[in-house]
Amino acid sequence: MLRFLSLAIVPFACIAAANMPPEADQKLARDIFKEVIEIKSGFTTGATTPVVEAIAKRLRAAGFSSADMFLGGAIPTKANLVVRYRGTGKRKPLLLLAHTDVVEAKREDWSVDPFTFLEKDGYYYGRGSSDDKAQVTAWVENLIRYRREGFQPDRDLIVALTADEEGGGPYNGVDWLIKNHRDLIDAEFALNEGGRGSMVNGKRLSNDMQAAEKWYLDVRLEVRNKGGHSSLPVPDNAIYRLAGALVRLSQFAFPLKVTDVTRAYFAGMAKIDTTGAKADLQAASTGDPEAMKRIAAASPAWNSMLRTTCVATMLEGGHATNALPQLAAANVNCRVQPDDSLDYVLGELKKTVADDQVKISISNKEENSPASALRPDLMRAMAKISDSMWPGVIVLPTMSTGATDGRSLRATGIPTYGVQGFFYERDDVRAHGRDERIGVRSFYEGQEFLYELVKTLSAGQ
Ligand SMILES: [Zn+2]
Repeated sequence: MLRFLSLAIVPFACIAAANMPPEADQKLARDIFKEVIEIKSGFTTGATTPVVEAIAKRLRAAGFSSADMFLGGAIPTKANLVVRYRGTGKRKPLLLLAHTDVVEAKREDWSVDPFTFLEKDGYYYGRGSSDDKAQVTAWVENLIRYRREGFQPDRDLIVALTADEEGGGPYNGVDWLIKNHRDLIDAEFALNEGGRGSMVNGKRLSNDMQAAEKWYLDVRLEVRNKGGHSSLPVPDNAIYRLAGALVRLSQFAFPLKVTDVTRAYFAGMAKIDTTGAKADLQAASTGDPEAMKRIAAASPAWNSMLRTTCVATMLEGGHATNALPQLAAANVNCRVQPDDSLDYVLGELKKTVADDQVKISISNKEENSPASALRPDLMRAMAKISDSMWPGVIVLPTMSTGATDGRSLRATGIPTYGVQGFFYERDDVRAHGRDERIGVRSFYEGQEFLYELVKTLSAGQ
């Protein structure tokens, strides 16, 4: 009887198992997670300042000094928080980055309230639960835990929680910090979002580490013509000229190639592939042209990792149904491999268009940033911790075909790695979408993984 009674007073539903933070840290992480998810920090309608103020309050209560914290940003509603956990200073700091803004979410689009933290069927629901408030929570809770445990790293640990990653813009916290307080975030390297764990039907396969991103470029193709009455057509027609250029573009493709990062990616994928493409993935990782061709044809994602892409996305032209067009223009969106230059891409487009009357100009260009070298210390630490937490899971270097704040850090000389250890079903990614969620177990395991990883990378050698 007594035994049953003692079972009944087990304090709360923490997950007691290997790979999990201690109970008190699970509880604190859950509290922080709930608090930050329920603060509306939508990219366009919300504010990030209340998020970082709430966190600063918790850090102060945990004994962090105000002198080691910086709060500030481009405008009063878009503040960032930078907090420094002091180490012995033997090595250059490690920067731990996460963004506090979220993609907008409307109640009517969701089956639950996006800004009410909800635990249901083994998941935590809420806007930002996977992008990127789980990582915000893990960095903050782990910092508090290190302090409580008296951990002394051999380098400063800098946590930066920043505004407006989603869509960038003038209030982007990372850009603002680089411009105004570069010293506060200067580090040997940084860990950020962009790499996650991948599982299929609950089976954990790979712990991804994003080490490169393609860069974004919009090019305008434009044809101008004196026009005239449409009852008197002439061969020289702006719409036809543009159409010809676009057809030639549709028949063109940039050459296939592998980089250090994608070589490692395809070699890793060859080990865990379930689609029957093992041999081709392995051969593609060595740059085998025929294998790369087959891999590119098999998947738009693999194609995009193997080459720079440029594709027509918008059209405009003509001014009246009864007039010859004076203008025809198209937007061509390029996603460029990190080591391809602007001149190279524009040169190839010019050759492909092959018409001097089609004017080619840049309408939008993001800064290019180099791939980050696959650091042996990070690769080793990730492999060791992943393997002890999830035997058989491989560490998979990746190149994103979209963008994160890592781009700006890499461009300013701080190599950046997207690492989370939060696992998601590969075919059920809900970041930016409806009913965003993270598995309860995945959440705490990721927190524990990041705790061990940062400790390993700063524990002296
Ligand atoms: Zn994000």
